Amino acid sequence: MKNTNEPLALFGGPKTITKPFRRYNPIGAEEIEAAKKVVESGILSQFLGCWDPDFYGGPKVQEFERHCEAYFGVKHAITINSWTSGLIAAVGAIGIEPGDEVIVSPWTMCASATAILHWNAIPVFADIEPETFNLNPKSVEDSITRFTKAIMAVDIFGHSADMYALMAIAERHGLKVISDTAQAPGTYYMGKVTGTLAHVGGYSLNYHKHIHTGEGGILVTNDDKIAERLQLIRNHAEAVVCDKGVTDLRNMIGYNFRLGEIESAIGIQQLKKLKGFVAGRQRAAERLTQGLIGLQGLRMPIIKPDCTHAYYMYPMVLDIEQLGVQRSRIIEALEAEGIVGLAAGYTNVHLLPMYQNKIAYGSKGFPWTSDICHREVNYQKGICPVAETLHESTYIGFEMCMNELTDEDVDLMVRAFRKVWDQMAKLK
Ligand SMILES: *Cc1c(COP(=O)(O)O)cnc(C)c1O
Repeated sequence: MKNTNEPLALFGGPKTITKPFRRYNPIGAEEIEAAKKVVESGILSQFLGCWDPDFYGGPKVQEFERHCEAYFGVKHAITINSWTSGLIAAVGAIGIEPGDEVIVSPWTMCASATAILHWNAIPVFADIEPETFNLNPKSVEDSITRFTKAIMAVDIFGHSADMYALMAIAERHGLKVISDTAQAPGTYYMGKVTGTLAHVGGYSLNYHKHIHTGEGGILVTNDDKIAERLQLIRNHAEAVVCDKGVTDLRNMIGYNFRLGEIESAIGIQQLKKLKGFVAGRQRAAERLTQGLIGLQGLRMPIIKPDCTHAYYMYPMVLDIEQLGVQRSRIIEALEAEGIVGLAAGYTNVHLLPMYQNKIAYGSKGFPWTSDICHREVNYQKGICPVAETLHESTYIGFEMCMNELTDEDVDLMVRAFRKVWDQMAKLK
């Protein structure tokens, strides 16, 4: 191994990594062939927005859904044109009313929370656990008011939220639970398939997720009623309810959230490869973890007993006090060594301008200032101290979702980290 005492690249020394990592690309010959067949058939979509056999979509949409049901072990899988749409459909399907409160993590992609606002309901942010970065059940329970109707549990970076604890809280308080499992498909929580423990859950199929169809998503549920409502919201509910004999008209405002035939045909092929992709990601991440063992003040990913991790991100936490160096300086040094894909912090959704100014629909503060909102909801800095500290100063992520790492790449990354750590004092 090369001497890690060579000067840091930041100070003019040789770069550890000289060629970029290969971009992650899960699409292969099978997907090309499947897409080509659909194009040749001339049927690129076959949905009808009325009560008809084609209300459920064309042959590939339905075939993909049956494959997903078998794969994830659920009664119903419903394809959707994006997972953002999936989250919106999920919030509507569980019957959330204007002004209802839904508890959500601040450490997630913004869509988890905006899906709540789309039904004029109120996102309430609970804090996260420092180990998994997922909702802290204690903070969730403390955030419950008499207006709370649901919990949006996010399985961030590829590790399941503490679903048994969250489901127990939901049961005690009569709440529904949605799983945003966009980043953790094909993982397990206590032997159960992540995403399937909630009343409704699902996965994203956008291009930086483990498997993709360009854009797309999959909803999963074991509840017949929720499944029917998801299908209605996906496809012009208001025009279908009468002929279908649906009498529960709550949130039967339909959208066009339909996935196409090409995407579904690609999805069928992608699903077959999911297990292998997740295993590959785990192999690279575990090699990285092994290589980083012993670096002072660096915490590697924590995996809870009986859980697996899909490593959408490889999450690390710095002990800034022990290191005596700012995170930005450490990242600067690592990037100078040639590592691409490091991120300082992740997100604090509650601090976005929309929440800070309470301006969402129009300019007058709707829904927060309207009488559908039952109380003053606090989005001030300080409400989620764990998520805020991680974002501000201690968290570093490596975007495994964008990079296809060979063993050699991982070993070079380890060498870069070791080189920077060996000379940490020079960064002070
Ligand atoms: C990607 C992602 C979404 C949104 O999925 P899209 O398919 O891009 O709409 C939602 N939540 C989380 C946690 C995500 O990572």
